[in-house]
Amino acid sequence: MGGSNEQAETRDSGYPKLNFTPKGALIENIYQDRLKYLTAGGQYSKYNLTSQYIFESVDSDPHVKITARYIPDQARPPFKEATGDLSKFKPIKKGYKFGPSWSTTWCHVTISVPEKFRKYDVVEFRWDSSCEALVYSEDGDPLQGLTGGGERTVFSFPKEWVQDGKEHIFWVEVAANGMFGNAAGGDNIQPPDPNRYFELVRADIVAPNVEAYALFIDFWLLSDAAREFPNDSWEKHFALTTANEIVNTFEPGNQGSILKCRKLAQKVIGDKVDSADVYKSDKPFLVWGIGHCHIDSCWLWPFAETKRKVVRSWVTQCNLIDKYPEYTFTASSAQQYKWLETLYPSAFERVKDHIKEGRFQYIGGSWVEHDTNMPSGESLTRQFILGQRYFESRFGKRCNTFWLPDTFGYSAQLPQLCRLAGMTRFMTQKLSWNNINKFPHTTFNWIALDGSQVLCHMPPAETYTAEAHFGDVKRSVTQHKSLNDDNSSLLVFGKGDGGGGPTVEHIEKLRRARGIADTVGILPRVKLGHSVDEFFARLEKKASETNPFVTWYGELYFELHRGTYTTQSNNKKNNRQAEIFMRDIEFLATLASFQGSTYKYPKKDIDELWELICLCHFHDCLPGSSIEMVYRESDEYYKEVFERGEKLVEDASKALGFETKRQAGEKQELFAVNTSPWPRTEVVKIPEGTALGPNARCQDGKYVVLGGDSRQCGFGISVPVVDVHSSEVQKISKVYQVSEGVYALENDNLKAQIEGGLITSLYDKRVGREVIPKGKKGNQLVIFDDKPLYWQAWDVEVYHLETRKEIAPGKVTILEEGPLLSSLLVETQISEKSWIKTTISLSAAVGPDAGTYLTFDNELEWRETMKFLKVEFPVDVYNTEASYETQYGITKRPTHFNTTWDMAKFEVCCHKFADLSEHNYGVSILNDCKYGFATQGNIMRLSLIRAPKAPDANADMGRHTFKYAIYPHTGGLSHQTVRTARDFGNPLKAAWTTKEELEAVKAKLEMVSIEGGSNLILDVVKRGEDDEDVSTGGLPTKKGRGVVVRIYDALGGKGKAKIHVRGKKVVKAWKTNLLEDEEEELEVQDGFVSVELRGFEVATYRLVLED
Ligand SMILES: [Zn+2]
Repeated sequence: MGGSNEQAETRDSGYPKLNFTPKGALIENIYQDRLKYLTAGGQYSKYNLTSQYIFESVDSDPHVKITARYIPDQARPPFKEATGDLSKFKPIKKGYKFGPSWSTTWCHVTISVPEKFRKYDVVEFRWDSSCEALVYSEDGDPLQGLTGGGERTVFSFPKEWVQDGKEHIFWVEVAANGMFGNAAGGDNIQPPDPNRYFELVRADIVAPNVEAYALFIDFWLLSDAAREFPNDSWEKHFALTTANEIVNTFEPGNQGSILKCRKLAQKVIGDKVDSADVYKSDKPFLVWGIGHCHIDSCWLWPFAETKRKVVRSWVTQCNLIDKYPEYTFTASSAQQYKWLETLYPSAFERVKDHIKEGRFQYIGGSWVEHDTNMPSGESLTRQFILGQRYFESRFGKRCNTFWLPDTFGYSAQLPQLCRLAGMTRFMTQKLSWNNINKFPHTTFNWIALDGSQVLCHMPPAETYTAEAHFGDVKRSVTQHKSLNDDNSSLLVFGKGDGGGGPTVEHIEKLRRARGIADTVGILPRVKLGHSVDEFFARLEKKASETNPFVTWYGELYFELHRGTYTTQSNNKKNNRQAEIFMRDIEFLATLASFQGSTYKYPKKDIDELWELICLCHFHDCLPGSSIEMVYRESDEYYKEVFERGEKLVEDASKALGFETKRQAGEKQELFAVNTSPWPRTEVVKIPEGTALGPNARCQDGKYVVLGGDSRQCGFGISVPVVDVHSSEVQKISKVYQVSEGVYALENDNLKAQIEGGLITSLYDKRVGREVIPKGKKGNQLVIFDDKPLYWQAWDVEVYHLETRKEIAPGKVTILEEGPLLSSLLVETQISEKSWIKTTISLSAAVGPDAGTYLTFDNELEWRETMKFLKVEFPVDVYNTEASYETQYGITKRPTHFNTTWDMAKFEVCCHKFADLSEHNYGVSILNDCKYGFATQGNIMRLSLIRAPKAPDANADMGRHTFKYAIYPHTGGLSHQTVRTARDFGNPLKAAWTTKEELEAVKAKLEMVSIEGGSNLILDVVKRGEDDEDVSTGGLPTKKGRGVVVRIYDALGGKGKAKIHVRGKKVVKAWKTNLLEDEEEELEVQDGFVSVELRGFEVATYRLVLED
């Protein structure tokens, strides 16, 4: 105890007795506002830190000499072709304008570093052509991507270039487009301006002031802390006073003051931020920083430009990997790797080396980052087959994580398909864009229709192109919605789409963010150097040990971009038709390959066609959100699919003994190839003059009934059926006028009454039930105003429903009068410029499934602005849920608006059918190429066409053909709808053989079949990817010749079946995953294999056949 001691200490502390120097409290808003002036442009820029970034700079001859060659016709020639003839290059200098839009100019640059620069540690070249560019070495190796507009402008010289004083040469390939295309006026999604020019504003040799730049980053993060830390934290005030000390200390032109300021900054950011050592503390970290470059495979630029965006971005990232030891980069899309491999082999080798070190990390397992709403089940499967096989063949391993940050909603079956493609994890982010309900989880188990799960993480910073801001790191915790279960998160940073990925600035900022976390705290600790796989491996371990994660069952419906189910409808039609076509091609080619002929399974062609189709699934192509140029490219891709596909069908048909085009010669016996795994009897359109058997009934030389498959399990042939007119008169189809302007279409099943093209009655004779409610009209065309809040091609907003207008009835004439097919032609004017011709038809009820629906075949001329055309079928059926076909199953959505979650689904995606059923009865609406649908109460509404003006000013303008049907059915939703919808989109087609060969053809086509649960669909018959006689190399082959069959349960219940193989002995049978890894050996019985599937399961089997 000692009062005397205390007194002594007070005396010694030096605290003055008197004070005549007033000092006020720091006025926070003023001192905070003041901070920005240290690094801002404007009136202080000549006197603040911005004036100190460069020591020296030179842009003149003889140190910088540039010649350039303009490439005409929007061509993008490879290096050798572009640079071969130097006489074509003319001198240019700063101020030169590159353009017009989409053109390329090659520049030949000769530099020599002036002597006075040699004292500096760092000397570099800065090029800003205000647009994208790529630096090549003198011999043509891509070295550095540049973005322009000040975004990414530095090409670092090799050290010897600085010291040797000699002339050195490099090339710059200048692309006249910005990172978001060529829209004029700053609104990126407006259609491109064809006449944009880009000025060369910088072509300088520069000696930068490295310490001044470092202080800029120090101060940036420090002043963020002063602004964004919570007001009631001491750390905020500490950051604020430190930052103000720095502003007070800085003196322009005094390098010593810059070093002093940096020293002051260390109080908050620590003393390790100048190296990767900042990450060396073993304190636990929460935020996993992952470098990334989201490169849309097409969007506001064509596919052709993306090939260059990839090389620009990835060589840039290789440079950053070389420069920053802590840095790792991840990139998805096998297609982009293949482009690099094919077009830029030296860059590919560099990427490959970094992949080996684990620093460049491939991810995703799919061909592209595709849409998941519209591609069929098999299309999604092919994304994984093509993607995983590419990655495995080039880099030795498959991916573990499915990566779709930017796709517009996620199909309910994805978790199952991921698991079947060797992936247990899923990363996405887009749902944070929902504009009605906030998605409630960050890390969770996402569960498919069949119960399969993947671990899903949605980065809480809510971006996949983070700028690595202080705020991004902070939000990784503050916006994390699953903190009760796990507090870690991914921070996916880097500029996308020609921005080239992460920048030096991003990596430097994250070093400071980590420094702050370790020095003063509060900010979550971020770490670089890991992989997405390591992040998920940790979560997965936790999930298997204690499983704290919540579950989300079914689709991840995206509450935005609902217009993408409809926009660019011809492109969508091509997709649907290509999918159906590929199935038939692979079926026929598989059977043909077992005929012992010289026929060889065309694996290479099939793969190439699937690659094109899968490329077009890209999340801005198939959804319709790209510029017009992209759709001219995709038209070409689909044209190639159909033309080459046609040839493949012809070749396979020949090997199987028939022709698909009627020719002069012996093959005059008409039949149809049934590629559906169930028997079909249909009215089939045939070429005029086709010879028929004596009893076959033909209508006007145009229609004939083909059917009568012997086997109940399907596949095989359908042959002309005897005269239905005389023997079964009830079944014929007829059309007649009931009264003035009122017509009827009728057969044994249905009777429809039609007035002005509208269905005023649809009577189901089989059960004595009216389908259309009294006073309502089916096939009512309705048009809506369609002006979303911003994203025109993408969005249709909820308020459009309030602008509904009915299109007035059209003019009706009788077109065809049975007995096989009856039809009415309805001509309807939509507006002054737009019209639609609809053929409403009903076929004879000649088979169990024929004549059970009313078909509407449409030819549309569409010339509208921001309008949405739909067709409505009010039905006398009531349910609070409707069913929609999705990949490998059904997704149910509400028909009401009880909650905002229900309401958000005012427009949803469906595949070949939508169904509204109640107990024992229902109605399905079938379509051949549409994807948008809504069921509101008892109104079923199919979306037909939109008219957005951005980013394609001409989207959907012009002529369209499409068809849909109303299919009433007894019972609830069943296999009948699934089958009818599939057959509706793939009608039986005529084929010809000789009379003698017909039985043999039939036997060949019946080689593979299934028998069993009607809920099971035999979806695909193909050859094994790695069969010895089929393999195209790249991966090890498998012994034996195998048939691969993919079966799924379409309705959500267990099912059993036998897979039969006829004419060949099955020697071994395996259940495999999608990638055809053998997982379970199955017992081969006498010519068949028994299988059992759980509800909504997708199952693949490989049957090895005897040689
Ligand atoms: Zn994207």
